[in-house]
Formats: sequence, C-alpha cells, structure tokens
Amino acid sequence: MLTKVERLARISVRGVVQGVGFRPFIYRLAQEHNLKGWVRNTSGNVEIEVEGDEETVDSFLSDLKTEAPPMARIENVEVTFYPTKGYTEFQIGESLSREGQYQLVSPDVATCEDCKAEIFSSDDRRFGYPFTNCTNCGPRFTIIEDIPYDRPKTTMREFEMCPQCQREYHDPLDRRFHAQPNACPQCGPSLELVDGDGEPVEGGNVIEAASDLLKAGGILAVKGLGGFQLACDATSEEAINTLRARKRRSSKPLAVMIATLEDIEKHCLVSPEERKLLESPQCPIVLLRWKHGSNISPAVAPNLNYLGVMLPYTPLHHLLLKETGLPLVMTSGNLSEEPIAKDNDEALTRLKGIADYFLLHNRGIYARYDDSVCMVEGVPQVIRRARGYAPYPIFLPFKSKQILACGAELKNTFCLTKDEHAFLSQHIGDMENEETLEHFENTIGLYKKLFRVEPEIIAYDMHPEYLATKYALEAGAKESLKLVPVQHHHAHIVSCLAENKVEGPVIGVAFDGTGYGTDGTIWGGEFLLADWKNFKRVGHLEYVPLPGGEVAIKKPYRMALSYLYSLLGEDFSLEGLPLSRLESAELAIIKQQLKRGINSPLTSSAGRLFDAVSALAGVRGEIDYEAQAAIELEMLAPDEVDESASYPLSIDEEGGIGVVKLKELFSAVVQDVRNQIPLPVISLKFHNTVAQIITEMCKLIARESGINQVALSGGVFQNRLLLKLATAALQREGFSVLTHHLVPGNDGGISLGQAVIANFVSI
Ligand SMILES: [Zn+2]
Ligand SMILES: [Zn+2]
Ligand SMILES: [Zn+2]
Repeated sequence: MLTKVERLARISVRGVVQGVGFRPFIYRLAQEHNLKGWVRNTSGNVEIEVEGDEETVDSFLSDLKTEAPPMARIENVEVTFYPTKGYTEFQIGESLSREGQYQLVSPDVATCEDCKAEIFSSDDRRFGYPFTNCTNCGPRFTIIEDIPYDRPKTTMREFEMCPQCQREYHDPLDRRFHAQPNACPQCGPSLELVDGDGEPVEGGNVIEAASDLLKAGGILAVKGLGGFQLACDATSEEAINTLRARKRRSSKPLAVMIATLEDIEKHCLVSPEERKLLESPQCPIVLLRWKHGSNISPAVAPNLNYLGVMLPYTPLHHLLLKETGLPLVMTSGNLSEEPIAKDNDEALTRLKGIADYFLLHNRGIYARYDDSVCMVEGVPQVIRRARGYAPYPIFLPFKSKQILACGAELKNTFCLTKDEHAFLSQHIGDMENEETLEHFENTIGLYKKLFRVEPEIIAYDMHPEYLATKYALEAGAKESLKLVPVQHHHAHIVSCLAENKVEGPVIGVAFDGTGYGTDGTIWGGEFLLADWKNFKRVGHLEYVPLPGGEVAIKKPYRMALSYLYSLLGEDFSLEGLPLSRLESAELAIIKQQLKRGINSPLTSSAGRLFDAVSALAGVRGEIDYEAQAAIELEMLAPDEVDESASYPLSIDEEGGIGVVKLKELFSAVVQDVRNQIPLPVISLKFHNTVAQIITEMCKLIARESGINQVALSGGVFQNRLLLKLATAALQREGFSVLTHHLVPGNDGGISLGQAVIANFVSI
C-alpha cells in the first residue's frame, strides 16, 4: 500500500469573497475534509493554508469552487504547494491589511429567506426586528468605510454585540459567523418615529404607528439601506398627488414596493425572466407590464403601461409592507434631482415639508445608494445601476491602466479602472447642482480608497459645460494627470462593446438626446464605425435647429416646429394640426429664432425626432421628465405589431457621410394627423420607420465597410418597441446585434466607454 504524501497548500482566492460568509464556508469545508490550517482575509484576497494528502486537498479545492456561498463570486484561485508545517487544528485568523492591495466589495444584499423567516416567527428572538441580517444578506457596501471588511471599519462599530450575538459571530457553524452587521433587539440599531419637526411620536410599536400613518394617507420618509425613501399608499390618488406636489415632480413615474410576488401578479404581468430579477439578491425595481384592473392609482405612472415594481429588500421594508397590507410608493428621498438624503439630520432638513413623518434609525449609512432599475426586453437590462450591483466591477477583457472616467451630465456615473476591473460607480444623479457634484466627488474618493486606485489618466466628455468635464479638467491639472477627451457617442458604443467583450470595429448606432459632436453641433442620431480606440462618423440624422436651445428639449412642440419649418418651408401652415393652438406671439419668436439661427444650435438628435413627432401628433408638447414625449408616444403603439406600415424615408450622401432625410417622413405624418388617423397607428408607423432608418443605414455602411456587427446604444434604445423592431430587422438582414445588459445604455454607461477608450488612446 502506498503511503499518502502530506503537503501544505497555500491558496489565494480573489473575487467577492469577503462579507459573504466565505471564511465560515472554508472553515466548515476544512472540517468536512479533515484538513488543518487556517483562513484569513487580507486587503487583497482570502488566504488559506491547508495540510493534507493530495487527494483530499484536491477535493477540498474543487468543493471550494463549486459549493461557495450564494453571494460569493470567485474570480480566481491560485494554489502553491509547500512542505507541511504540522498544523493541529483549523482556525480563522486575524485579518491582514496590506499596502496597495484591494478586494472586491460586495454590494448590499436583499434579506435572505432564513432571516425573513426569523422576523416573522413570534418565538424567534429577532421577531419583528428590522435590522436582522446574516452572512448571506444585509448591508455591505453602504456601511463599509475601508477594507479589509471588518466591523470596526463599518458604521456598525458603534454597536457592541450582546453575548448571544457574540456567540453567533464566533461560532463557525452559525449563519452569522463573522457577519459584520450582526445585531439583535438587545444590542443593535433601533427605530424611531418622529414628526416633521423631529419630535418623537410617543407610544406603541413603531412599525404599527408608521403603518397607521401610511394607511391614513400620510407621507412617510423611511431611512432605508442607501438613503431615505418617501413612502405613501400607492392606491391613494390623493396621497400620491400630495407627494408629487411637495416633491415637485408632477408626472415622473414613481416606483412601487409590493409585499410578495403573488401580490405583484395581481397588478402586473410577470414573465419568468422578470420573476427571476425581482427575486434575485439584487432585488431591483423591474419595469413590468401594468394590468388593467390593478387598484394602484394611475397617478403613480401617468399615461404609462409599465410600472416600476420591487419586492421588499430589508427587514424594515418587509415589516412595513406586511403591517400596512398595501402596495407602497417607495421613491428616492430627495427634492427633484438632488441626491438621495442619507443622514437623519440631513433628511429632517432636506425633506422638511415633503414628509409628514420620519421613520429613522441609528445605523449610519456611509455610501448613498439608490434603487436599481431593470427591464426585460428579450434579455434583462440594467437601466439604473446602483443597489445590489455597484460596486461590483464590470470585467474587462484586458488589463487596464488606472483611469478615472468622469461620465456625462445626466444620470451620471463615473468609472475607475485597475487591472481587469472597471469599477463603474452607482448612479450618482444629474450633475446640475452642487449637492450632486459633492456626492460625485465623495464617491470618487470612496472608490479610490476601497479599490486602491491612483488614476494616471482622466477621461471626460467633450461637452465644455458638463460639470463632470469641468471637474476632470480641474482635477487633471491639479494632479498633473493625462487628460483624454472622449466623444459622447463613441463612449456610448464602446460601453456596449466593453460589456460584451468585443473589440470592434462595429457599426455603432448611438441614438440619444444630446451629445457634443466633434463639429460643435449637438449629435444624437449617429452611425459610427467604432472600436475601443477610434471612431469615424459615417452617418447621421439630418440636422435641424434646436430653437431656444435647452428650452426646445423641455418643449417638444418647438422641435416639431423646427422640423416643419426647416424641412417643409417657412410658409408651412399649421392648419388642422394640434400645433395650431400655439399662441401667435410665441410662434413668431420661434420663427425668428429659426430664421436667423438665434440661440438655435443644430442637432441630429434621435431623441428630438421622437419629441417632434410626439408633439406634432398631439401626444405631448411639453414635458416634465426626460424623454416623456417619446415614452408616451411609444405607449400608444398597439400590442399587436404590424411591421408593414411605415413612413417614407431617404438617405443622401453628403461628403462621404450618409444623411437620413426626414422631409418625406414629416409630410406623411402631417397628412396622417390632418386625416385624423388614430394615434396608435401613427405611433407604430413612426417606430417602424425609425427601425428602417437604422437597418437601411447599416446596410449601406456594411456594403462600404464589410462589417456586419452592429452595436445599439444610447437612451433611445430604452424604448422597448424600437429596440425590438430594430434588433429583429437587423438580424433579418444578417447582422449580429450587440445590446446592453449589465451597463445602462443611457448616459449612465458613458463612463465605462470613456475609460476603455482612454486606455487605448493613451498607449
Ligand atoms: Zn440573512
Ligand atoms: Zn445582540
Ligand atoms: Zn448620451
């Protein structure tokens, strides 16, 4: 019989392996295999030493990869072998901080089934406790101030664990072994209900009292995971209208939280893919088809067929939802587009006058973190990437330099790259105020610290007026970093390429509202030949003036007039059109602006084309949230799609560039509107036409270039109907089509594209 050779295996595991129950898992695994040694966290990885014979160590290694805890994501395992040291037991060692090393940090994780069962069972010591968590769930990124991830480096350090919690924390066989936010009613954070002046509401159970306020139609500010949310009864039009008036958000859709999947299905259609997303540990808001007969008030999402819905993702939400028995509006606690409020004092000041009552707690939030939003059109797509996703990186198919990419103006995110990791930040917001800029700067600081990134390059959008651009120029100059300006639509396409791990060149179709072009005009209906480094503009929508600049974005009827007068002549009559109701004084001003080109920059924007058609058809002439006119036009299209009906279009070649001419399209739409053709028909014909514009142009470009792969990016592709029609039409023509999944196709994905381009431009 052969004697088995004992050896020592030193194992390094990288990935999301801290704060997810990985050490207890290794501890149990070592026990199972009867291996001696130790496991510890360092700032760069999890390190393990085990001693045993070859066969046992091999089977330990294979189980390590296949049986890891649900939230762990193993990126890489390295093993080296040494002679044995003679360990006599298996231990969990002290964490080790090493200079310059970094670790992936787990996003916050929705409450697991085990914890949920505890808070709802009356004989459990955590019955009704809103801060219950374990190694498989609970807050992570939002409470971490630095790495390695241990309680003293989180906002939980102020709470000293009671003996029972201590026991769980130190018992390797317990679900709460080394669960850093571990807490119970004896020792952990607690709730407090206060009124609008910060005065405590006396007496009784806080959850019951808060629920009573919600049931009576009140507006409650709830301190959640990554910041405050504003809650109210989603079935009460009155409560919603009050919230809208106070929040100064007249029609932008609000998200709804519903207690269970079964309840969601009473209000919405849920496909298997959507169900998977709703119930995932990320627990995002999912845009679901809204059922007729749902008693959720139409005021939640006026004129829309989709409702943003999520399940409860913290014990506090579970308790509140169960107690009220209502679907609750659960929207970011902010005024208009300011960042979400996160601290108690801050909320009491900033949300004063908006919320009637505040449901506070004393667990600190370190990082602001909004709810993520996803939709499923064929495949799942993240359209706002925050809670549950960030700061997990996007994996790059190459080793990147250390770069800070500052992103765009609206839906800003930034991106820091290091090695093969692109740390795309959580949604920061619209960079239109000081508060958001501050949030942006602070969050850059946090990511640099957590992931030990020292950028050598700063990438930024070419738009000189973006706050993110100004920040980049200033920071770059101060720290003598290499500055790389990146064209907006090139960044869109490369963000799509990067997440699909495709280098290009591809035909990039970038359709959005606004992006600064290399010729100083406003681009937005662009066809590019693009790869990670370069792009060439090979086609675009015809230019028209944007009368009044920004004003024309808020007032789509101005765009309709711009197209009509520019394409059909300045004597064009508005007779028989909804636009004829405009006041003649304003009309005269717009005509002057168009004629003389006063404050009327040229644009090739696809977003503005949608706006113009929406206003021309009488769907919406003024908006109060981004893309509202286009979205409402899309919503009118019939469910049964007939792809045969469309409007005429033509493509001219101007200086080697294909230009989509829109005169015939507008003449035909005018005719349909005058003939009172039903809006669903106009909407569908228009969507079909835009899909044809895309296919026809791609065919021309493919003929010239020989390239038959197309990448679709830009906010316009959040239009599901267009995405579906364009993808199908391109595929029918033999194109392979790349779309977004992990990274938003809107401006929230721009920073990833900027970072990748900067990496290759600077070689
Ligand atoms: Zn749990
Ligand atoms: Zn305790
Ligand atoms: Zn854009």
